Formats: sequence, C-alpha cells, structure tokens
Amino acid sequence: MKRRKFIKSTGMMAMAAAFSGNAISAEAMSVSKKQLKLKRSMLVDDRWDVIVVGGGPAGCTAAIAAAREGAKTLLIEAMGQLGGMGTSGMVPAWSPFSDGEKMIYRGLAEKIFNESKKGVVHEAADKLDWVSINPEHLMSVYDRMVTEAGAKVLFFSRLAAVEMASDDTVDAVIVSNKSGLVAFKGKVYIDATGDGDLAAWAGAPFKRGYDDQGSVQMSSLCFSFANVDSYDYINGPTLYVWKDESTPLYQAVRSGKYPLVDTHFCNNLIGPDVIQCNAGHMRVDTTDPWAISDAMILGRQKATQYLEAMKDVRPTTFSNAFVVRTASLLGVRDSRRIEGDYIFTVEDWRERRSFEDEIGRNCYYIDVHSGKHKPEHYKKGESHGIPYRCLTPKGIKNLLTAGRCISTDAEAFGSTRIMPCCLVTGEAAGMAAVHAIEQSKNDVHKIDVAYLRKRLKEEGQYFL
Ligand SMILES: Cc1cc2nc3c(=O)[nH]c(=O)nc-3n(C[C@H](O)[C@H](O)[C@H](O)COP(=O)(O)OP(=O)(O)OC[C@H]3O[C@@H](n4cnc5c(N)ncnc54)[C@H](O)[C@@H]3O)c2cc1C
Repeated sequence: MKRRKFIKSTGMMAMAAAFSGNAISAEAMSVSKKQLKLKRSMLVDDRWDVIVVGGGPAGCTAAIAAAREGAKTLLIEAMGQLGGMGTSGMVPAWSPFSDGEKMIYRGLAEKIFNESKKGVVHEAADKLDWVSINPEHLMSVYDRMVTEAGAKVLFFSRLAAVEMASDDTVDAVIVSNKSGLVAFKGKVYIDATGDGDLAAWAGAPFKRGYDDQGSVQMSSLCFSFANVDSYDYINGPTLYVWKDESTPLYQAVRSGKYPLVDTHFCNNLIGPDVIQCNAGHMRVDTTDPWAISDAMILGRQKATQYLEAMKDVRPTTFSNAFVVRTASLLGVRDSRRIEGDYIFTVEDWRERRSFEDEIGRNCYYIDVHSGKHKPEHYKKGESHGIPYRCLTPKGIKNLLTAGRCISTDAEAFGSTRIMPCCLVTGEAAGMAAVHAIEQSKNDVHKIDVAYLRKRLKEEGQYFL
C-alpha cells in the first residue's frame, strides 16, 4: 500500500479534527464555602450522601451510578484528571471487552468504551478487544459523563485519614488539599483508590501480594513516543511482544547495551505518529511512598533508554521519534486486596462460576506479572460472575470497594484487575451505596441484592 493511501485508510487525517476537546466546567470544581462549617479547627463539609474516593475507571462509574440514582455524590481525586491508570497512568489499551463472541462488560462500561473509541478513529469501529486509548480524549469523556450525571468532582485532594464513628462505621474522610485538611462526611463511602487506602485505614482486613512475603506484581511507568513513522510501525515486523526472540526488542535486550530495557514492551498507536507504551518492569513496594518516588525516577530513565534501543534496532520507525510524555501516576498493578464477605478465588475463576449475587461478568485471563506465574486463558464465549459480596468489606457497615481493590485471592486478582472489570464493579458499588441509604440505614451488607441486579440489568449490565 502507498503511504498516502495508507494514511487515508487509517483515518489519521481526520483524527485531529475529530477530537471534541470538552472543557472542564469551572462550576464543577467549586465547593461552596458557605456550606463548610468550622469544627475542631478543621473544615467539615457534610453535604454528601455518597462519597467516592479515587477517580479511576471504578470511581468514575461509581460516581455516575450513585448520582444517577439520585444521591448527592462527591468524587475526590488526588490528581487533576479522572481516569486513573487509563489517563494519568497512560495505560495504552483497554483489555478485551468481549469474551471472543460478544461484549460482556456492559452498562456504563460499554458507554464509556464507546465514547473512548471516538478518540482513536484509526481503530475499526467494531473492534472490541485491545482498543487503543487516547488519554487526553478519555479524561474529557470522564469529565463530561461524571459531571453530567450530577456528581461533584474535587481534584487535587488526597485522602489522608479516615475518622470512624465506631469500629464498624466510617464517620468522615479527611482530605489534604489547598484548603489544608478538610473533613468530608457522607452516609456511604466507596473506596476506589485502587490501593484500598480508605478501607485499609478504616480497619478493614486486607491481603497483599502473591506470597508469604507480600511480594506484589511488577510495576511499570507508561510513556509515549511521538514522531514515530506510523506506516513503518504498522507494516514492519511486530514490536508487541514479551519473549519472542525474533523481535528487535529482544535483540536489544540481549545486546547488553540497554540495562534498563527488558522484554516487557506492549505498545499501541494512539494517534497519528504517536505510540503509547506499557513497558519495563520494576519491583516496587507499592504502598511505600519512598519506593514509588524512586520508581518514578527510574521509570523516566527507562523511557529514554527504550527509545535509544528502538532507534538502534528499528531506525526506520523510530529515528525521528522522541519521548513526548511519561505518566504522572506510577503503573501499580498490585497492592491491597480488601477482604469482603466473599473472596473470589482462582478456583472460582477456573470453574467459570456463576453466583446468585453476581453483578457482572469477567473473562480476562490470569495475568500475574511476577516472573513466576503462567497465564491461564478461557475459551471463546466463557466468563465468570463477579459476586456483589466482593465489594462489601468485612466488618464495616457503610463502606464499599470498587475496582482493583475488591475481594479476590492473589491469582484471581490477575484477572479482575483490568479496567473493563473495574468499570463494572464501580457501577454496581455506586448503585448499591444509594440502595443502602434507602433500604438498610447505610448498611451495604443488608441491601436487597435482587433489586440491585434488577436495576443494573435495566441500565444494560450483562450477567446471568
Ligand atoms: C502498567 C499497567 C498496565 C496495565 N494494562 C492494562 C491494560 O492494558 N488494559 C486494562 O484494561 N487494564 C490494564 N491495567 C490494569 C488497570 O489499569 C488497573 O488495574 C485499573 O485502572 C484499576 O482501576 P481502579 O479504578 O481500581 O484504580 P486506578 O485506575 O488506579 O485509579 C485510582 C484513582 O484513585 C486515585 N487515588 C489513589 N489514592 C488516592 C487517595 N489516597 N486519595 C485520593 N485519590 C486517590 C488515583 O490518583 C487514581 O486516579 C494495567 C495496569 C498497570 C499498572
């Protein structure tokens, strides 16, 4: 194919014009000072029904669902954008949305996925699996969908502590931001921090890692290269591999010239001449701020060295490329798993189990980045249920978890941690929070799960 025809056929000329560029509403950012009371020398904002902490995929769907159910909903996020690992973390692609036959992550997940695809017009319209993410586009999708649902977003605000009314009830979350320390009070809280900060600090039991030492999966700092030759990138030999000895990357690693480069190099074209990379493994204690800081510095060095290696082994694609961006969030695959009323296990995964209280389905493979585990895959059309009880932390009445930190064992976690699954658990948690306020005096363990499932189905979710 001729270069011009190739560019036309992939839709790249139209791409720049297609981006919507939604602006963040200034109103959405403002917190009314009048409604803040001074109490014990700390600002207290007690206007909320549902408070979601963490604005990644799970936090966004949780906030949208809670607001849509009519709750006064606050979404607190440490960064200045929504989307978590898919935006601030620069993960370059959605894990498959289909089980090989049909889309299985539906409801809000499907809506967000469809909106996200408008930012990558070079991808085929009917593609469901491993669709690239344009992070700038995706963060404006989340901005719009969360605020249009009626939830309020508070950026640059990090959960710093949790105040308990009693051992089993969260009273307030204490957040650090430009106002200093502020207490936010709601009726029900949702932990969507990925790391389970809120639940762990509220005293919920949790597990960490895949062995007795608490070793967690490898972390990566994602990055992007611009001015890549797209034509050569797509039409040349594959660069998307782990340990394929025939690839240029493998040769670069073997040469010994690039000590910071390893064989982990997943990459996607996210726009004209821009590829985004999920590359380079680092062993990091992911709840230690010192270790995370060191990993950010090392990750940026790795990005530069990956580019040097690529220029060396694949000059036709990379000779004019440069590192255009590195992620502002470290790519943490693994930290705390908050123990819920049920722990979803790898045996459940292998048996493709369905559950009476399931709130969605998942079919991703067991993908544990440890250097020790072998991947396990389902066949086409297979999936398992995700029980609601994985979202209800043991011993705490008014708290739910959503996303990466839900209740699983270490191996099953390798499957449930991906973004489509996090979107699904977020929507269920958001709805359940409101049902707990309406039905069971904020007790998330006592809601009518049949009604939750009915509402989720009405909103388009898929499960048995
Ligand atoms: C390197 C890497 C590659 C991956 N590749 C893929 C892939 O290809 N496809 C896929 O689908 N999934 C992939 N995943 C998995 C997926 O991205 C994450 O597991 C998923 O994003 C988790 O969603 P979440 O909403 O639970 O948390 P996150 O996406 O981690 O979002 C959590 C949010 O909470 C905020 N936060 C955290 N702590 C606090 C606090 N104390 N106070 C306030 N805010 C806080 C964070 O800033 C963040 O915005 C990958 C993960 C990593 C790390």
